[in-house]
Amino acid sequence: MKPSAQPELVEIAPGVHAYVQPDGSWMINNTGAVVGSDDSLLLVDTTSTEARNRALLASVATVSSAEPGYVINTHHHGDHTFGNWLVPPSAVIIGHEACREEVLAAGLLAAQVLTGPDYGHIEVRPPSLTYTKSLTLHLGTRVVELHHPGPAHTRGDTVVWLPAERVLFTGDLVFAGGQPFLAEGSITGYRSALEFLRSFDAAVVVPGHGPLLRGAEINRVLDDLAAYTTYLADLASSGHASGKTPMEVVREAGESRFSSWQESERLVGNLHRAYHELDGKPLSERLELPRVWMDMMELHGGPITCHA
Ligand SMILES: [Zn+2]
Repeated sequence: MKPSAQPELVEIAPGVHAYVQPDGSWMINNTGAVVGSDDSLLLVDTTSTEARNRALLASVATVSSAEPGYVINTHHHGDHTFGNWLVPPSAVIIGHEACREEVLAAGLLAAQVLTGPDYGHIEVRPPSLTYTKSLTLHLGTRVVELHHPGPAHTRGDTVVWLPAERVLFTGDLVFAGGQPFLAEGSITGYRSALEFLRSFDAAVVVPGHGPLLRGAEINRVLDDLAAYTTYLADLASSGHASGKTPMEVVREAGESRFSSWQESERLVGNLHRAYHELDGKPLSERLELPRVWMDMMELHGGPITCHA
């Protein structure tokens, strides 16, 4: 990593920390650490490679001498869960029930798809405590709420809300500066999830990837993401109606104001999911991910680089 690209642990409210990893591209995510009034320690997500996970835990150890007692997985993707195995066995890993299913179904596949990084040692450790709609943790007097926004980025998303501090960890419902990735989630669900995020009226948003958002920036980014989904839905409905493949639709669409966002190859993956929905197929039916990745690589112009 370049010196300018070092991860940074930022205290966003007393005892509430965001671990922000530049540049937020594939497999380089943000996590959180919350210290309870009883000195308990909760992590929001882990990260991708063994080296990054060890760096995360070392960084968190500078603000809390406690071992993590809880890890919340905002969803199943490897960049958010591959470090679960590194926290003590006594820690409770918490996720939506579909997150647990997807962690078990996906295994370590992401490390085979996004090659490039030295992942080191990684193991699958799924959530051991699951919920369906919402769950509240009381860390002494500190309240941490988990809410399932419905299917959006994946089937098993969780947002983490600290009502007293008005801090919202969105997981990958928000890629700040990047295109959303909905191939394993739902376009329709994502649109309502954005409104759900807005309803918190958060002071600080910790996106799954990209820089922290504060104040007026939050709604500006949510507006942009909503505009993207409108663009996506319009492309999908006209392309689907005229029998074009997702790749043909993207090629014909050409440049848009969203092309300059990071990971613009996701557009074709998102169109695959949009077609799946327009075909009336159930959400629980997984896309053929190898085909989606082939199209994304073609659009990217070669293997997708991942420098986690
Ligand atoms: Zn993700």
